[in-house]
Amino acid sequence: AKGCGKNVYSLFDKRMNEHASERVTLLADLRQAIEQGEFVLHYQPKVDLLTGKVTSVEALVRWMHPRLGMLAPDKFIRLAEEGGMIAELTEWVMRTACLQARAWQEADLAPVRVAVNLSPFHFQRQDVKQSICAVLGSTGLDPALLEIEITESALMQNDEYTCRVLSELRDMGITISVDDFGTGYSSLSYLHRFPINTLKIDRTFILNMMKSSEDQAIVTAIIAMAKSLKMQIVAEGVESVDQLETLKDQGCHEIQGFLVSRPVNAERVARFFTDEDHL
Ligand code: C2E
Ligand code: CA
Ligand code: CA
Ligand code: CA
Repeated sequence: AKGCGKNVYSLFDKRMNEHASERVTLLADLRQAIEQGEFVLHYQPKVDLLTGKVTSVEALVRWMHPRLGMLAPDKFIRLAEEGGMIAELTEWVMRTACLQARAWQEADLAPVRVAVNLSPFHFQRQDVKQSICAVLGSTGLDPALLEIEITESALMQNDEYTCRVLSELRDMGITISVDDFGTGYSSLSYLHRFPINTLKIDRTFILNMMKSSEDQAIVTAIIAMAKSLKMQIVAEGVESVDQLETLKDQGCHEIQGFLVSRPVNAERVARFFTDEDHL
C-alpha cells in the first residue's frame, strides 16, 4: 500500500511540474504578446428590454497566440495579474476600446457606450484614475461613452480608496457597473455608499433561475434592491427566450448573452447599432 501511495505522489509531482513549466512558458509568451500586440477585442451588446436597442457593448479581450490559437481571458488574465502585467494589458484594452468607440462615432453610427473590465489588481493602483484620463485624453472619447465594469469583490477591497476613485470617475461622466453581482455577499447598506450606475447580475443566477426557485428568488430580490437604489439592472448570460420573458416580467432593464449575440469583432457588432428592435 505504501508503494502505491508513493506512485500516486510521484505522478502528482510530475503533473504539478508539467503544469508549472506550462505556466512559465505561457508567462514568457505573455510578456512578448504585450510587446507585440497579439490581442484583439471582441464586443458583446447589452440590449434594453423595453426598446430592444443596444445601450452599450462590452469589450472582451482575446489573445491570438501564435502556436495555441485564440485564447480566452480565463487562460491569461490571472497570469497577467500575477506576472505584474495587468496594467499594461488593461491600458491596451482601454485604448483600443476607446479608439473603436471614436471610430464608430465618426462613422455616424448611433452613439453606444463601450464597457471595459477593470481588474481589481489594476484598480488598486494609485494611478488608476490618471491612466483612464490619459486614455480619454489621447483618444478624444467623450467620457459619457465609457463604462467601466468592476467586480463586486473588487468593491470590497480597500473600500475608502475605491469609493473615492469611483466618485471621481463618476463625476467625469463615466458609467460605473458592478460585474458578477450576487457572488460577493455585499449588503445593501454597503452598496449604496458607492456611486454605482448599474448592477450586472451574475450569469450563474440567470443559468439556474429557470430550474431553482432559490435562484429565482435571488434574482427577484436583486432586481427589487437595485430598483430601490435607483440603479440600472443588467442580466448577463441570457441564452433562452424563457429567461428573457421571466426577466422582463421581473422588471429587469437590460440583458446580455448568447440569445442576442456572442461576443463578436468590431465590424460584426456594429450591425446592432441601429434603431431596430434586436430582441
Ligand atoms: P465577464 O466580465 O463576466 O464577461 C462575460 C463572460 O461571459 C464572457 O466570457 C462572455 O463571452 C461570456 N458570456 C456572455 N454571454 C454568455 C451566455 O449567454 N452564455 C455563456 N455561457 N457565456 C456567456 P469571456 O469573454 O471568456 O470572458 C471571461 C472573463 O474574463 C470576463 O467575465 C472578465 O471577467 C474577464 N475579462 C475579459 N476581458 C477582460 C479584460 O479586458 N480585462 C480584464 N481585467 N478582464 C477581462
Ligand atoms: Ca464584465
Ligand atoms: Ca460578468
Ligand atoms: Ca462572470
